[in-house]
Order: sequence, then C-alpha cells, then structure tokens
Amino acid sequence: MTRPKFKPCASCQTPNQANRKTCCVCFESLSTKKNLNEKVQSLDREWGQAVVKNRNVGRIIDSARIAVRKLEAIGYKPILFFGKKEKASNKWVADVITHLEPTATTRNFLEKMQRAYEFLLSKDTSVPVQPHTSTGQQFVPPKEQWADEQTET
Ligand SMILES: [Zn+2]
Repeated sequence: MTRPKFKPCASCQTPNQANRKTCCVCFESLSTKKNLNEKVQSLDREWGQAVVKNRNVGRIIDSARIAVRKLEAIGYKPILFFGKKEKASNKWVADVITHLEPTATTRNFLEKMQRAYEFLLSKDTSVPVQPHTSTGQQFVPPKEQWADEQTET
C-alpha cells in the first residue's frame, strides 16, 4: 500500500500534504490521535485561568521551552513566538524561543518576524474573526489595513 500524498483536514476538509502537522487553512492539528486531540481540547480558557490563578505560568513557559528544545534535538528548526498584552501600554509584546544560530541575519529576520507577529496580534483583537462565513464580502486590501494601523497610533 502506498501512502497518500494528501490527507484531508478533519476540521475543514482541506487536503493537506501528508507530511504536514497543521492544516494550512484553519491551523487545526492534522493528527488523528484521539488522546492527543482530547488533551488539546481540554486546554481551554478555563484551564488557562486556573493556571494563572495557581501562579503556574512560569512552569508552562518552561515546558514550552523544553518542547522547542526537543524539536531542535530531533532535527526540526522550531521558532516559537508568544505574545502578551502589556497592561501599562495596552500593546502586544512578543517574545521568541528558538535555537537558531544568533547570526546578524537571523537576528535581523527574527526581529522583523516578531514585529509582524505583534502586528497580527493587534489585528486579531481589533477585528473580530468570523469563521465559516463567506470571504470576499468584507475583504479589506492589506494596504488599507496598514494605513489603518498608522492612523491608529
Ligand atoms: Zn483545516
């Protein structure tokens, strides 16, 4: 039996390349492992609030750092961006965990990617996402979005 080159996403049915781990359209996991998917679903907002309440945020970030290191050790080249809204400035501030060589080129591009990521975060909260509705009707060209961003600040 030959393995299929494409497999459909369980969430949105988009065919994805068989070696991908995340759907290229909806970002859901392409894993069909029941235990994993149940575990992921249990990590909801309620779980997050309990972690914050019990002051275990540092432990979760430590475990993310370990997961990134593990991916590096098996030959993947992970970059984990994670951002939090600063209460004082009300602005998204991103941090990154990676084991890429800290060359001038890497630092230059990571810096730009971090800025782009912070931009995405600011857009995500100001424009409500409405999944499963038809696209195109409320499409705003990227140029105008950037223009909006400039007038906001
Ligand atoms: Zn999908």
